[in-house]
Formats: sequence, C-alpha cells, structure tokens
Amino acid sequence: MSKQIFIIGSGFSSLSAACYLSKKGYNVSVFEKNKNFGGRARQFESDGFTFDMGPSWYWMPDVFERFFDDFGKKVSDLYELKKLNPAYRVVFDKNSQFEIEDNINSIVKLFEKHEKGSGKKLESFMKEAKDNYDLAVTNMLYKMPGLSPLELVNSKTIAKANLFLTNIKKQIEKRFKNHKLRSILQFPVLFLGAKPSNTPAFYNFMNYADFGLGTWQPKNGFYDVVKAMIKVAKENGVKFYNNSNIEKIEVQNGQVYGISINNKIHKCDILISGADYAHTEKLLPKELRQYSDKYWDTRTWSPSSLLFYLGLNKKISNLNHHNLFFDTDFDKHADEIYSNPKWPESPLFYLNITSKTFKHTAPKGHENCFILIPIATDLEDNEDIRNKYFEIVAKRLFSITGYDLKKHIVFKKSYCIEEFKSDYNSYGGNAYGLANTLTQTAFLRPNLKSKKVKKLYFSGQLTVPGPGVPPAVVSGKLVADLILKNEGSV
Ligand SMILES: Cc1cc2nc3c(=O)[nH]c(=O)nc-3n(C[C@H](O)[C@H](O)[C@H](O)COP(=O)(O)OP(=O)(O)OC[C@H]3O[C@@H](n4cnc5c(N)ncnc54)[C@H](O)[C@@H]3O)c2cc1C
Repeated sequence: MSKQIFIIGSGFSSLSAACYLSKKGYNVSVFEKNKNFGGRARQFESDGFTFDMGPSWYWMPDVFERFFDDFGKKVSDLYELKKLNPAYRVVFDKNSQFEIEDNINSIVKLFEKHEKGSGKKLESFMKEAKDNYDLAVTNMLYKMPGLSPLELVNSKTIAKANLFLTNIKKQIEKRFKNHKLRSILQFPVLFLGAKPSNTPAFYNFMNYADFGLGTWQPKNGFYDVVKAMIKVAKENGVKFYNNSNIEKIEVQNGQVYGISINNKIHKCDILISGADYAHTEKLLPKELRQYSDKYWDTRTWSPSSLLFYLGLNKKISNLNHHNLFFDTDFDKHADEIYSNPKWPESPLFYLNITSKTFKHTAPKGHENCFILIPIATDLEDNEDIRNKYFEIVAKRLFSITGYDLKKHIVFKKSYCIEEFKSDYNSYGGNAYGLANTLTQTAFLRPNLKSKKVKKLYFSGQLTVPGPGVPPAVVSGKLVADLILKNEGSV
C-alpha cells in the first residue's frame, strides 16, 4: 500500500506539495481548518460582488506555467489570463499620477520625462534585474531547499557577491535622483516583506518581474489559480477535508504518528504543515519544537494589513485596476511598520478595483474594490481604529479623485490583525509571513524538515523561498522533492 501523507492547510504551498506527491503515487490528504480552501487566497461572494481576500498582483507568470507544465497542462487550459495595460497607477498627488504601461519602452520614456538621462539608466538597471531573475528564479530557486549555505554559491553568485552587501534602496538612490521614480522602483521589493533598505540589492530581480514580465489578472480573480491547483490535485487522487482544525501533532518514538482533530487521532506516515510555521510548532510538545518563542519574537516579519472590501454603486472613472497611493512619506510609513511599530500617522495605501478589468465581479454599474493599508504586526486592533483609518483613506481618495467613497458604499467588510490570527493562526497577524532580509534568506530561514521529529516537514511563506504566491508554489515543490529524496522515491 502507498504511504499516507497528510498536509495541514490548503494554501498555495500545500496545494503544490499535494499535486507533486500524489503524482508520484503517494496517498495524500489535505486538512483545512476553514470552510473554504486556498489559505490567504480565499475568496468570498456577497451581494453580487466577488472578492479575492488576499493576493491580487499576479506576477511571475512563468512560475505558474512551469507548475502546470509539470502536470502536462498549460495555464490557458485552466483559466483565462489578461495582461493589464496600464499595469498600475502610482498616485503622488492630484496632479501627479504615473501610469506604468505594460512595456519597457513606454516606461523608459516616462522615466526620461521626469529625470533627464534616467531612461538609459533604467535600461541598464533592467538588464541587470533580468540577469538576476534568470539566475535566481529560473535557475536557483527550484534547487534551494535551504539545507546548506553552499546552495547559494556558484560562479555566477560569487561574481554578484557585492549585490548581497548593499541594499536595494542604496542601489536605486545611487542611480536615480527623482524621488517619485525612486519610490516606483522600490515598490516591487515590498512583496518580499521587508523595507528596501533592509533588502539585498540582488533582489532587484523583482523589478524585472514588474516591468519585464508584467502584471496579469485571472478572469474570475486570483481564486482561479486555487481552483486550478485543486483540480490538478484531485485528478491525481488528493482528498480534501475542510472544517478540520488540527489540534495536535502526534509523535511516537521521535517520529510523526498522526494528527488530532476533535480529539480523534488520524494516523499518517509523513506530515507536511503549510500552516504558519510558528503555529505548527505549537502543535508539538515543547521539547520537540525547534525554535523558541524568543526566536519568533526577534524575526523580521512582513507587514500585517488593514483591509476594506467594498461594493460601490457608482463607477470610479479616473483610476485603474491597481492603484498605489504614494501621496505620503514612504520612508516614514516603512519605519512605522518595521523600526518603530505603531499605527501609521499618514499611511500609504493600495486600492484594487477588480471590476475595472472583469466587470462580472460586480453587479452592472457597480464597482468591486478593496483597500489595503500595510501595518506592523501585533498592533492593537479594534473597530474604532479601523473606522478611523477608513475615514482617513476616504478623505484622501476624495481630495485626490473627487470620488466620494462613503456615499456609494453598498457593501463593506473590514479585515485586520484579529482575523489574520483567528482565521489562519498567523503569528502576530502577519499577512505575508517572514520577510526576505539578508539574515532571513535561504538556509537562514526556518527549515523545510524538522530536526527533532522524523517525517515532519514544513512548507509556505515562513520557510524557503519566502513570501508571495510564486514562492509558495515553489515551496511546495521543494518540500515534495525533499520528501521524495528522503524516501528514496526519486
Ligand atoms: C492581503 C494579502 C495580500 C497579498 N497580496 C499578494 C499579491 O498580490 N501577490 C502575491 O504573490 N502574494 C500576495 N500575498 C501573499 C500570498 O497570499 C501568500 O504568500 C501565500 O498565499 C501563502 O501561502 P502559504 O501556502 O504559505 O499559506 P497560507 O495561504 O497561509 O495557508 C495556510 C493554511 O493553513 C491553514 N491552517 C492554519 N492552522 C491550521 C490548523 N491548525 N489546522 C488546519 N489548517 C490550518 C490556514 O487556515 C490556511 O488556510 C498576499 C497576502 C495577503 C494576506
């Protein structure tokens, strides 16, 4: 009989691992505490509006193609994708708004218009970013389970060692003087969860993901990707169980024995947890945990978020699908997330209007949108604070665009630290896991395999490679490959 693998959680990393391991003949079951599958990428529908609850920027389309190709499929067999043009809008004030188009030539022209000579500099910066992307994402990422520092060492990375010794903020500021262009170039590394001054310059490959590969949108939202992965998993025999909260990991003689749900033990041979790593360790007796409370307390966490999902009964005419409101001080807000954690005085925010691209996500004549304010983890979170920030954002939006958000709301739901904790068992209410800083990269991140419990593995945004949907998909493959190697199945 084939071995029984259980997977905790149904986020992208769990789904990815489930697909790879079931394809190799393992008997795989996924257990999710929530009613809906997909983890932080769940979706909900209300009053005719469809809301993606988490990811909305579909970047690095090559990672998704590569995943489905491993199962003999193309993305186009599974869901419809549209490349956005403009990719997004950056709002600096009422009269200064930059539209980032879907091709590098237009972006070079835009840069040149705002800083003489910056167009050429951008071209050479992008060459470097592409080179780093080809090296990091296309070649190295899939071969780096984070087991040894040597994974990072090859002739090409040695030649680029200087890019690990400086940060992306310095690198950008050395080349570009205009503060708006600087902010636009620093935006992509926010996906890695840390501030640009704390992110190695090598990670400028995210700029290639942005300007080079573009921003895409699945027809029915990001949840299309979840559904496609569940379809592939089911075709390979994976079983899915919702409303199944794992209360305890059972261990016998130093090896995984099973999981407990509602005080009932279910036996398995191998266990992977795609739930937040810090939470998973709490499911074990103290002596079998690898990392102390102090370890987790002293990590650099990616931000949490205050989100408002909104249904509006009037179209918004002068904005795009993705809109970044950079009309306040970028560095100050970053400090209020990382260095001096507190509710930001004057937050940057992101406004997503999905119905701009796919109208069926809102009733006719209506708009489906959400607002995201990045905030530090573990802040006090209550209704009054949320309302205060809604007022701030609505006021700013009105003064810049003339659109009176409050007048047109027909649906409103907020989501913040408390829900991140209760829905996902998220440490401090983090949204995107552990940041990718120099000291939290590759082998320096929490391990894919437990050093204390045999046959216990981890996947997801707190381990390798890091935060974001494409890394989560890769994480599932890395853990699957490690299991296949350890079980002698390759
Ligand atoms: C608001 C927001 C916006 C984002 N925007 C983007 C974006 O635009 N682009 C992008 O690429 N990425 C984005 N991300 C990040 C991306 O969504 C995540 O990195 C990715 O989805 C994480 O996948 P994962 O596999 O690590 O786990 P998760 O999605 O966190 O899944 C873990 C699962 O484990 C379950 N679980 C926890 N404890 C238990 C238990 N005891 N028993 C059973 N199940 C349990 C949870 O319920 C959850 O379903 C965003 C995230 C958020 C929150």
